[in-house]
Amino acid sequence: MKESPSGNKVGRKLSTLTVLGSVALILGLFSSTVEAATAEVVHKLDKSRPAGQSPWPDSGHPPSVNSPEVKAWVKQVDWSKVPKLPIRHTPSHGHAPECPSSHVNKEDCWWTCNGCYAPDDIIDCPKKNVWGLTFDDGPSPKTTMDMLDLLEEKEVNATFFVTGSKSTKAPWLLKETINRGHHLASHTWSHFGLTTLTNEQIVAEFKWTEQFIFHHTGYRIKYYRPPYGDVDNRVRAIARELGFKTVIWTDEWDTQDWQLSEKTITSKQIVGIFKNGLSDIQRRDRGIITLQHDGHQEMVDMARTLLTMGLKNGMQPMNVAQCLGDDVGYNAVPTEPGTKPETRPETKPASNKAPKADEKKAKESTKNGSKDPAPAVAAAVPKPATKGDITTLVKEKETTKSDASRVLVTLAMSAFCVVTAALVL
Ligand SMILES: [Zn+2]
Repeated sequence: MKESPSGNKVGRKLSTLTVLGSVALILGLFSSTVEAATAEVVHKLDKSRPAGQSPWPDSGHPPSVNSPEVKAWVKQVDWSKVPKLPIRHTPSHGHAPECPSSHVNKEDCWWTCNGCYAPDDIIDCPKKNVWGLTFDDGPSPKTTMDMLDLLEEKEVNATFFVTGSKSTKAPWLLKETINRGHHLASHTWSHFGLTTLTNEQIVAEFKWTEQFIFHHTGYRIKYYRPPYGDVDNRVRAIARELGFKTVIWTDEWDTQDWQLSEKTITSKQIVGIFKNGLSDIQRRDRGIITLQHDGHQEMVDMARTLLTMGLKNGMQPMNVAQCLGDDVGYNAVPTEPGTKPETRPETKPASNKAPKADEKKAKESTKNGSKDPAPAVAAAVPKPATKGDITTLVKEKETTKSDASRVLVTLAMSAFCVVTAALVL
């Protein structure tokens, strides 16, 4: 049957509309496919793990070096800058190394066994009477809150050198510590003597701890303290390559409070040592960095006594970054500061006090001194639990957001094509 001219015109209109609609639909579907593929890559590592398995390394020993994350981090190190020194012997893994009876190479600059400091080791504060206050080996769900309360009462702040292993038991305390105006730094993942570990294990120790703190706070740490002060030029070089600064403590200012829990020292003896130190302090041109811990109640009680003594003697306690005049104190800070800590299973109310120095820090650039792994590595960490979580995980939020926007774009494109075709025809 022959079609009338008007019938042909209507037919052409319908064909044009069909073609334009199809184009819009194909474009929308293409966009969906690309986005879905991207999301697939971003979440690939998460999906590769058995359901319910923590994406973080186990506690109690150095993280595996066979994971894709560690392999990617190892590749970021320029190994030509890391001296080939021996892996040190330890009588018991997890402890300080055993110093050899033979001579230790001076060039190794192995603090543990020849007391050597490298020029960039941080061992004190430049200004006289300034007291770099530091607490190691936390966080502890039992006592860290008491230490934070004590510091608030004394109106001072400190650097907390936390281990990754302990942090997995009380991650909310990381955010709480920052929200109370304190400074977080790394004390490695497992607290093994670093010189007793392989190069790859050292990378894993540093980077997993950094990653854990970053995920739970949005802050990428810059300073670390080697457990037992155990550092040589191999460890230092790896740390430098990854963007971390080595902090030890001032000679004679290890308060020995760690011995309280082992009952190998009394409170009275510690007070005596500290008193002697204070009587010598006026002879020093520079400030000090002390070594204290926050894992036992005796340590919190001792910190109260020593703080009272130090303040009476005109000492000015502050965190290590402040004592060095480092306004930021991290390699990266979050873009949304002041988020509340994650829900804590403790009964004590969380502090609502806003971070003091951190608001200013957050406005600073998010310069990242450490070399970040590829997005696939960042995807290995759990999904963000708080609004202000890390920038790498913003990618995940954007992916979710884009599901809705993708549908809207497809609908808008289809509508646009239909309207345009109707107007043209
Ligand atoms: Zn320690």
